[in-house]
Amino acid sequence: MSKPIIGKEEWCSFKELGLPAIKARIDSGAKTSSLHAFNIQVVQEGEEKYAHFDIHPVQNNRKVIQSCRAKIVARRIVKSSSGNTEKRYVIQTPVSIGDEEWEIEVTLTNRDAMGYRMLLGREAMKGRVLIDPDSSFCLGELDDAEVLKNYRESMPSKGGLKILLLASNKDLYSNQRLLEAAAQRGHEIQFANISQCYMNICSSDPDIFYRGGESLTQYDAVIPRIRPSMTYYGCALTRQFQTMGAFCLNDSVSIARSRDKLRSLQFLAKSGIPIPKTGFANSPVDTEDLIKSVGGAPTVVKLLEGTQGKGVVLANTMKAAESVINAFKSLKVNILVQEFIKEADGKDIRCFVIDGKVVGAIQREAAEGEFRANLHLGGTASPIKITSDERKIAVQAAKSMGLKVAGVDIIRSKNGPMVLEVNSSPGLEGIEDVTGKDVAGLMIESIEKSFKKQNPALDAPA
Ligand code: ADP
Repeated sequence: MSKPIIGKEEWCSFKELGLPAIKARIDSGAKTSSLHAFNIQVVQEGEEKYAHFDIHPVQNNRKVIQSCRAKIVARRIVKSSSGNTEKRYVIQTPVSIGDEEWEIEVTLTNRDAMGYRMLLGREAMKGRVLIDPDSSFCLGELDDAEVLKNYRESMPSKGGLKILLLASNKDLYSNQRLLEAAAQRGHEIQFANISQCYMNICSSDPDIFYRGGESLTQYDAVIPRIRPSMTYYGCALTRQFQTMGAFCLNDSVSIARSRDKLRSLQFLAKSGIPIPKTGFANSPVDTEDLIKSVGGAPTVVKLLEGTQGKGVVLANTMKAAESVINAFKSLKVNILVQEFIKEADGKDIRCFVIDGKVVGAIQREAAEGEFRANLHLGGTASPIKITSDERKIAVQAAKSMGLKVAGVDIIRSKNGPMVLEVNSSPGLEGIEDVTGKDVAGLMIESIEKSFKKQNPALDAPA
């Protein structure tokens, strides 16, 4: 019988492991085969040793978890493609590809960070198949819905909340982490792209629809992660969700307030929170007096709606400050002028606040020759221990803005800590990376707590 031709990726199944469909990378460059596995436990059963392990069989999906059991035939040192060596358990089990089935040896390793949950190496394919490395799925393709149907029983038990992540780019680290954290805590979470939602504003039956017309009424909670360019529409959608009775992790008024630098500084000042001396004027006639009112040059000029440090300029002399301000004004953009906190030395502190608590803080330091500490501008993040004063100010700042989740940026001045800005969609990557904390999980926990408060009988899902 002629050998089947397979491509560089194929669907395969492992009936003894209870894995009806798993996408495998076919790699004749690799000697051994490996299967994604975590929570590996070795159990002695009579004379034999068995591996009990869990697997996320579906690529990019940690919600589906399948528990497997297989006989261990060896323990071997394996060198991965990245050059690392690891001692792995080897199991023996039948694999099916197309109409063929045969026994192979597979090593167990955590492949979560890898593109494929399964790698089929040359030893497992020897004499069984021919490989066409330029093709994919020669023996048939499956779509996501079909694959998930196969794993319906491995989905987390319901009883959790229905959560909607309202954002723009699903692939961003922060969004991926929130999707993952909610699923891990037993909730059903869906991503909706802000620009693809539309709403029906009526008093009796307000609704929001998604793309092909799916109604988004059924969500218990919404996590708005609105990018600055989508503030107006994103806030309108969030408001509509609030109208429909969904719990929003940050509400639309607080988000809109935090997006306007002047408005938020006015709020902070009103609440007695220290901020750098700040001036704002409309007419170019007042430019000189405006600069003097914040202590003269050097001075910082900021676009009211700039983000990631892009609209922040340091003017070293009075003349430079006047030119920058007048240039901005001629472009009809709104700016504010701020006292330059020189002693901050290009550093600021990002405090991540959830429900009135600082859950993590990092110091950001500007790149060489730069005064702005933004990570997007090449700044670096490091761990920092904040003072009780800084902690208090960060919590107060989030509270005064009405934000349950906030990134509060603090600068250390000779007169003590001052708040620069309060961000309503703070990024998770820097803070999780540096502090090692599951900040996404804490955000989901905050949603659970608010539901528990409303309904004390409800147990937070495991
Ligand atoms: P953005 O919202 O665009 O990030 P910020 O107001 O937070 O703008 O400013 C960006 C960075 O510039 C801050 O993180 C800080 O490092 C620096 N910076 C901003 N304002 C001042 C100031 N008044 N004095 C000294 N440095 C400042």
